[in-house]
Amino acid sequence: MLEVIHLSKKYGKTLAADDIGFTVPDGRIGILLGPNGAGKSTVIKSIAGLLRFKGTIRIQGQDSHTMEAKRSFAYVPELPYMYEALTVREHLEFISRAYGIPLSEEEAASLLRRFELDDKQDKLGSELSKGMMQKVSICCALLVRPKVILLDEPMVGLDPAAIKELKAQILELKDQGATVLISTHMLEMVKELWDVTFVMDKGHILGTYAREALANEDLEDLYFSVTGQDRTREDGRQTWEQ
Ligand code: ATP
Repeated sequence: MLEVIHLSKKYGKTLAADDIGFTVPDGRIGILLGPNGAGKSTVIKSIAGLLRFKGTIRIQGQDSHTMEAKRSFAYVPELPYMYEALTVREHLEFISRAYGIPLSEEEAASLLRRFELDDKQDKLGSELSKGMMQKVSICCALLVRPKVILLDEPMVGLDPAAIKELKAQILELKDQGATVLISTHMLEMVKELWDVTFVMDKGHILGTYAREALANEDLEDLYFSVTGQDRTREDGRQTWEQ
């Protein structure tokens, strides 16, 4: 369970998050949806403990600054960070040791195979493509078996096979009762995953929508009406067309 209560964050004079509040219960997938600059990463980074903020964040009922809270969540950043001198396999071993979570040969092999990294395990962090780094970052997050997982624009840079695998893994985590929070501006990527969506813009949550309450209403239509963004491109096509 993830609770964000009166979260505010300023960068100099820019109020990037203004009194944000939301809850994602166990076994639910929450989406922070909003245009570029809405404040999504700011919220995710605050939850992950990377920013100083005003307000309260609770992870599994514990204040986000506590060790108990830190042990129970995993974070996949928007821009993956790799240790240049560690191989793919060593990244997994490092994270498993840091969290004190044993990682068997089979588990590591299965994770790497699912993300088509099994033939890349001996490559160094500095030798990986952006998409490969993203996959390693996702594997590291999954191996800690998080109770809460934060994914910041996780699909960007992934190939279709990896996107499919990531979606399957997210649904598995949900079935196991984990809380998932995904930030994205690409509704298309999360349309079969979401349980509750928080539409953000200019540091505010403009609307909270539960899937079961929407009935026949289209989230995409709501997004455009709530944010006031124009969905028509210069060539006359709709912005969400792929
Ligand atoms: P995107 O979809 O483009 O990743 P976002 O919704 O994640 O955007 P944030 O990165 O949280 O948005 O940015 C929210 C606001 O805070 C923006 O106005 C941005 O310019 C500003 N901002 C973000 N990081 C910083 C920073 N380190 N210093 C100053 N301003 C920042």
